[in-house]
Amino acid sequence: MSTKLQTPIDYLKGVGPNRADLLRKELGIHTYQDLINLFPNRYIDKTQYYKINQLQRNNADVQIIGKIIAFKEVAQKRGKRLVGTFQDDTGTMELVWFRGQKWIRENLKRNKAYVIFGKTNWFSGKFSMPHPEIEGLEEHKANLSSAMQPVYPSTEKLSNSGISNRVINKIMQQLFLETGKKFTETLPENLLTELKLIPKNEALFNVHFPMSQELLSKAQFRLKFEELFYIQLQLIIKNLIHKSKIKGFPFEKVDTYFNTFFKEHLPFDLTGAQKRVLKEIRADLGSNAQMNRLLQGDVGSGKTIVALMSMLIALDNGFQACLMAPTEILSVQHYNGLIELCKELNINIKKLTGSTKTSERKKIHESLENGELQILVGTHALLEDKVKFKNLGLAIIDEQHRFGVAQRSKLWKKNMSPPHILVMTATPIPRTLAMSVYGDLDISTIDELPPGRQSIKTVHRYDKNRLNVFKFIRDEITKGRQVYIVYPLIQENEKMDYKDLMDGYESISRDFPLPDYQISIVHGKMKPADKEYEMQRFIKGETQIMVATTVIEVGVNVPNASVMIIESAERFGLSQLHQLRGRVGRGAEQSYCILMTSHKLSSDSKTRLETMVRTSDGFEIAEVDLRLRGPGDIMGTQQSGVLNLKIADIIKDHDILQLARHHAKNILKNDATLSSTNNKVILEAYKALGKYKNIWNYIS
Ligand code: ADP
Ligand code: MG
Repeated sequence: MSTKLQTPIDYLKGVGPNRADLLRKELGIHTYQDLINLFPNRYIDKTQYYKINQLQRNNADVQIIGKIIAFKEVAQKRGKRLVGTFQDDTGTMELVWFRGQKWIRENLKRNKAYVIFGKTNWFSGKFSMPHPEIEGLEEHKANLSSAMQPVYPSTEKLSNSGISNRVINKIMQQLFLETGKKFTETLPENLLTELKLIPKNEALFNVHFPMSQELLSKAQFRLKFEELFYIQLQLIIKNLIHKSKIKGFPFEKVDTYFNTFFKEHLPFDLTGAQKRVLKEIRADLGSNAQMNRLLQGDVGSGKTIVALMSMLIALDNGFQACLMAPTEILSVQHYNGLIELCKELNINIKKLTGSTKTSERKKIHESLENGELQILVGTHALLEDKVKFKNLGLAIIDEQHRFGVAQRSKLWKKNMSPPHILVMTATPIPRTLAMSVYGDLDISTIDELPPGRQSIKTVHRYDKNRLNVFKFIRDEITKGRQVYIVYPLIQENEKMDYKDLMDGYESISRDFPLPDYQISIVHGKMKPADKEYEMQRFIKGETQIMVATTVIEVGVNVPNASVMIIESAERFGLSQLHQLRGRVGRGAEQSYCILMTSHKLSSDSKTRLETMVRTSDGFEIAEVDLRLRGPGDIMGTQQSGVLNLKIADIIKDHDILQLARHHAKNILKNDATLSSTNNKVILEAYKALGKYKNIWNYIS
């Protein structure tokens, strides 16, 4: 039976070589099994009829019985639209056609009973339905078929080649006929009973051919649970293997470097959150297992000092440490910061970036290999093969969202044994996602800002208010403050963006002329040395305005800068806006963030801007971001499989995810090798997913 499911799709009656080819290429369907797991995106629910006064503004598909009482033509920018007034016994709404108006006028009759179906819009106080599906009530009653119609994922090519939704539906029926609806159960009896899950057979049948809304919900719940359960199981197993198999270097002691720094050179009191996080890291470093920890903390929450103190523990135990950052500017800043903080400690710290000279590079390579060099700070340059450590004990990656998972693993291959790894990010990942993506990472969170920080006043201004904004900038500069003005730089549109940046720079230079005002400019096309020079002028306060692209997005720390102007803010993503805003509010002065936009804004842009104005809580912002963008762009999601989910939705099915994780954890806690009778089903299903590999050798 299960072998039957491995049958190539070509063999299914009604498929044939051409269709099989298309199904493979377009939807990745190779076998019967793949086809079964092609789940509908949605269902057209024609079991329900709505009254006009029951309509909600949520734009869902609705079906209404009524009649058209009038037609009118409305002129618009291009051509005209046809509007029909549709009435039932509770009210009226509008039907709208932009095309095919002649046919509509000739074929639809006034005052005849129709059933309309489609999405509704809410516009100037009225509901309307553009291009409704429409059918006479009599015909409608005559050919009422399956009431819940599944809508399968499709592609343009598929529908152009005649593989319509209807065809897929037919093939699916054939599949159920041939396989006789006998699918192997993949969850154990006790779990089915405990969670009141319906059996696999029933679930699969009802997800493809739902008999009612209720059965459909049960089917979906069961299948979503199963999918998330096995992902969680896999992640937790990975984590278990990791902890048992990969031995770290236990850093047994905390000694002179750490203690001297802590007692004599710490420039401020640590916040409670910093202390807690340090303790968590300390516990990891002291244990036998290799640390693999994510440190998340909002912009400005003080992750750098935690990184330094962790590195000092490595040094205390005779190990080397490295700190990698995504940009040259940030590496340089980290390097300068560390040198300053450690100046009394007599530590050998060096910096390695793309622009390090060959001779210097050589020296660094040597001293790394003979162990004289204790801390290395730098960019991706650290990942080069030539960079070999004598005994790298701790690798820290800052602003991890800019790096891929592949890079993380590259770092850890730099030793015979992997070093402890700490990745830091100011782009917090919503908990839901963190759980599913980072099942294999432990997470520490700094959820408290250093004392005395004032919240940053954020406003949204349209381009036409520019004069006022400039006046505001002038006032702030007069008070001694410094200002960032940031322009978007999006790869696809690079030329235009540079033009915008340079035009902006020119106009700002005119409004803020020499010698009263000094302006720095930094963008990606400049040589690193020039960037660094301009950066330094701003850091030292020699320039009052920094015009830049997003190269300054991450990490840059100039406490006297208190105004962040973001040009064309509608073009930035939420996490970018949040990062940029985090460049100000680092000193004692009230800081401001001004989001400049044109008048034309998409609804997503509006949501982003409103969110920025409303809150500065990185977690809240991350949640909104996730809702707007979906998980696709968020780091690590590609590797984690959450994007390949067939039926569950990582955002909407949050609760099911938690339930699945809870049970996966529990089961493994009591039976790590899944060898009990109860768990046999799980073991078999897990093996069938192809994730089995040689995992068990490690665990048992
Ligand atoms: P991020 O978490 O964004 O990397 P940083 O480590 O750059 O933040 O810290 C931001 C600023 O806050 C720095 O100027 C740093 O010196 C300062 N800072 C960090 N921790 C504290 C603290 N406990 N008390 C006061 N200032 C702090
Ligand atoms: Mg930082």
